Amino acid sequence: MDERIRLELNRRRAMYEELARSYPGLTGIPPQLLRDLRIYGGYQGIYYDKANTSTLVGGAGGVTVSILHTGRHYPDDLSDTHIIYHYPETSRSGHDMAEVSATKNAGRLEIPIFVVAHSSQDETLRDVSVGIIQEWHDEAAIFLIALSKEWVEPTSQRLGRADGLPRFELTTPRRSREVSRRERSNNQPLFKFSVLRRYGSKCAVCYVSRVEMLQAAHIRPVSENGSDDPRNGLVLCANHHLAFDANLFAFDPETLEVVYKPSGVTGVDLGITNESLRHLKNKPHPDALMWRHTYWKRNVGLSN
Ligand SMILES: [Zn+2]
Repeated sequence: MDERIRLELNRRRAMYEELARSYPGLTGIPPQLLRDLRIYGGYQGIYYDKANTSTLVGGAGGVTVSILHTGRHYPDDLSDTHIIYHYPETSRSGHDMAEVSATKNAGRLEIPIFVVAHSSQDETLRDVSVGIIQEWHDEAAIFLIALSKEWVEPTSQRLGRADGLPRFELTTPRRSREVSRRERSNNQPLFKFSVLRRYGSKCAVCYVSRVEMLQAAHIRPVSENGSDDPRNGLVLCANHHLAFDANLFAFDPETLEVVYKPSGVTGVDLGITNESLRHLKNKPHPDALMWRHTYWKRNVGLSN
């Protein structure tokens, strides 16, 4: 390993240990302490401490030390184990590009970062996790970050990656309801990331492409034990996700065309502008579409 990288890993580990000594759960931390430890530089979303990290990447840019997570209005983006972090808005484009590059550098070099959030107990304090940048998706402008309360030594054997599709499983193995509910909600950011990457960041049936308005829909629903394989998913905007879950429309598994609930529902009613999935470069798994179509027919009274 490069000597400079080893030194930086030691520096960050020392920062973590100092923090964990005073705040063992890494919760309820005064922001000033994070500044004193050089974990966090101020109010910005991404802090890369140029003075300390630019030499790691040949003097240009740096390697992200921390991100401040404030996106509590996207509950699907955060779980105990993963977070989807949106690239900073592009209004300060020069800075933002440097911040995004620095965060990709942390991913490439497998250097852990600190994920800082407002404390759930007290808004003026901060909760911290150790984060590993796992992947990013430029089109959707998002990072997938694995979270841990323990220090994480870098390893080329990364866990929990969203890529690498094994044999398709339409359902997940049944577990106790309590364990299963916790695991499933932990998986939600991972599912959303892998669905956005597979299909692109655009609603499958309309023109909405603002990532803040997009959701990952399960074709075979979680309530029916549907899996988190991205081939059991679709990108839908919030409106069309609602309409899909209300069985107002489904997809013909043969033609991939939208079919509507047979009570006079039309594409115009629902704001559907794209009446088939054929335009998608990657399609959902046929088994998922077939299962959903049968389920949908039963729910709208087309079969019993
Ligand atoms: Zn839509």
